[in-house]
Amino acid sequence: MAEKISAVKGMNDIAAPESAHWEWLEAKVRALMGRYGYRNIRTPIVEPTALFVRGLGEVTDIVEKEMYSFEDRLNGEQLTLRPEGTAGVVRAVVEQNLIYDGPKRLYYMGPMFRHERPQRGRYRQFHQVGAEALGFAGPDVDAEQIAMACDLWAELGLSDVTLEINSLGQPAERQLHRAALIAYLEQHQDQLDEDAKRRLYSNPLRILDTKNPAMQTLVEGAPKLMDYLGEQSLAHFDGLRALLDAQGIAYRINPRLVRGMDYYNLSVFEFVTTALGSQGTVCAGGRYDGLIAQVGGKPAPAVGWALGVERILELLKEQQLLPAVPVPDCYAIIPQREALAQVMPVLRALRAAGVSVQMHAGGADGHGSMKSQFKKADGSGARYALIFGDSELAAGQVAVKPLREGAGAITEQTLFALAQASDWAAQLRQA
Ligand code: ATP
Ligand code: MG
Repeated sequence: MAEKISAVKGMNDIAAPESAHWEWLEAKVRALMGRYGYRNIRTPIVEPTALFVRGLGEVTDIVEKEMYSFEDRLNGEQLTLRPEGTAGVVRAVVEQNLIYDGPKRLYYMGPMFRHERPQRGRYRQFHQVGAEALGFAGPDVDAEQIAMACDLWAELGLSDVTLEINSLGQPAERQLHRAALIAYLEQHQDQLDEDAKRRLYSNPLRILDTKNPAMQTLVEGAPKLMDYLGEQSLAHFDGLRALLDAQGIAYRINPRLVRGMDYYNLSVFEFVTTALGSQGTVCAGGRYDGLIAQVGGKPAPAVGWALGVERILELLKEQQLLPAVPVPDCYAIIPQREALAQVMPVLRALRAAGVSVQMHAGGADGHGSMKSQFKKADGSGARYALIFGDSELAAGQVAVKPLREGAGAITEQTLFALAQASDWAAQLRQA
């Protein structure tokens, strides 16, 4: 046998039964987005590298060390597998002029790529659901987006996800704070780790976001950005708080909450849980009023969030909130393979009537005995066996046999006419 080829480290296959949980979550997301008036957008997985360098900022974890960037062999273009979704959406909005007729609410879901150390809740290919509201100045739409995420947790049954909010103010306010922050950190040079030393003058705000436990006391004592905000920024923040309060949404103000990308201003927020170890942020977002102009568009305000699908699913699993994996309504037992020509049209008629039917089909060792077919029927989890035996078929019928207690409307083995499948199909469906 040829040597096996493994998947790329940190990139996972998602197969049944797990994939059913993904589909379930995606369906919940679509329904929720629809209720809030968000429309789906699908952008390419590969974008010009410059989009992320310019959009996310050069001194960010993502751009410095996490991007899968490569040169197109054929034309030398510098390309990158998208590490996040916002930059691509903004590029599309600018390029397609999608907000020419007013603001837009958009959402996406799909894979993202970051070259990180794989561990629980942290992968190299992972998936995000993201919501973006473009052309809105807030804080109303900021509050709406946060409410939308809260509704998703409720819909999924998640309760111990907590909301943290902060304001990053405007660039000029950050400049003032930055000077004070650098002065403070310079006084404590000896306590800075390598990352912090490197960022001291390039991106000191990000030092506040450190995950290094040894630096926690230091960052807790650092000057707070909130104390440098002007009247307008504070009014925006208070407006957000009032609208959260009005909706009964609980939050904690975390003055050290900064985000990994440079594009954020004003409102920033994260939803965190203690149930997933150090990968506790399940959803994060904020306002990015400068980004549209930064990638060449006419200036327009915007706000968005992204959630980590793997982390949400792990949390649901941890809390035993994942739904039972769906099973077919019926398994079709076909003792003689010669009967297939008569049986297959009946199965299609049942499916057309909304019944899920798994047909017995032969394996590598032949069509399969009656006994092995019944075993497969049991293993499939189906509620009914449809038995297409010789005598039933000769009479133009099929025998429907419940495979377990409480299977549904049909409680004992019953014969039905093949020709009228659509008449009795409903009795096979899950109530
Ligand atoms: P972290 O601080 O955990 O690295 P981040 O700030 O880099 O997260 P964002 O860029 O804000 O994350 O992405 C939004 C969400 O996507 C995160 O809150 C998280 O749930 C998820 N996420 C980010 N990176 C990964 C990853 N490598 N694997 C799985 N999920 C991820
Ligand atoms: Mg990260």
